[in-house]
Amino acid sequence: MSRFPVYEIFGPTIQGEGLYSGNRTMFLRMAGCDYRCTWCDTQYALSARQARQVLSEEEIVQLIKLEAKETTHRVTITGGNPCIQDLSRLIDLLHQDNYVIHIETQGSIIPSWLYKVDHVCISPKPPSSGNITDFSSFDEFMHSKIPKEIKVVVGTEEDYLYAQKLYQKYEYYPFTLQACTIEEPYSILKWLIEKVSNDPSFGDNVKVLPQLHVLIGIK
Ligand code: SF4
Repeated sequence: MSRFPVYEIFGPTIQGEGLYSGNRTMFLRMAGCDYRCTWCDTQYALSARQARQVLSEEEIVQLIKLEAKETTHRVTITGGNPCIQDLSRLIDLLHQDNYVIHIETQGSIIPSWLYKVDHVCISPKPPSSGNITDFSSFDEFMHSKIPKEIKVVVGTEEDYLYAQKLYQKYEYYPFTLQACTIEEPYSILKWLIEKVSNDPSFGDNVKVLPQLHVLIGIK
């Protein structure tokens, strides 16, 4: 049995980002991240020291079940970056309880347990985040059979060019351009919709979305 830095377990609520935007889910937010993005919206959960609780796998499953109250059987594990932890046993325990497991990560670390989950949202960080993406870290994983999607936060022209390049590489996966909602969310969203609508380099499978939960002011 291991113990994990957990920032929060919350829900049932809806997923506010990407392919499953609007779908019901529980959230498990792990504390700790190997990045420091300039516009990170979860700065309160970047270090294990910020964890509100340190819990075993059994305690995490118990709390998720308690909060889910017989509603959703989807759990989205996010952070921080959950991939810095060894969640292998937690994944097994959640599967034993028939939970469908989604992971959100920037793709900087691909642990072996990631090949056991039900869906992965990889969100490589664009130039405005202050990071440089090492694509080789998740290239092999992209060829695995695990259902997955790509989500790119776009706040600047440079980010847009980055997303275009990524699309050329991963166009066969569900692909979301998410308007950066830290400042002026509506104007960035409108700018992004206008650009993608008139850009033949993107196919019709591309979605342009805001962070739904941020726009309506829920967690
Ligand atoms: S990868 Fe995500 S959690 Fe980590 S610093 Fe960037 S935005 Fe924040």
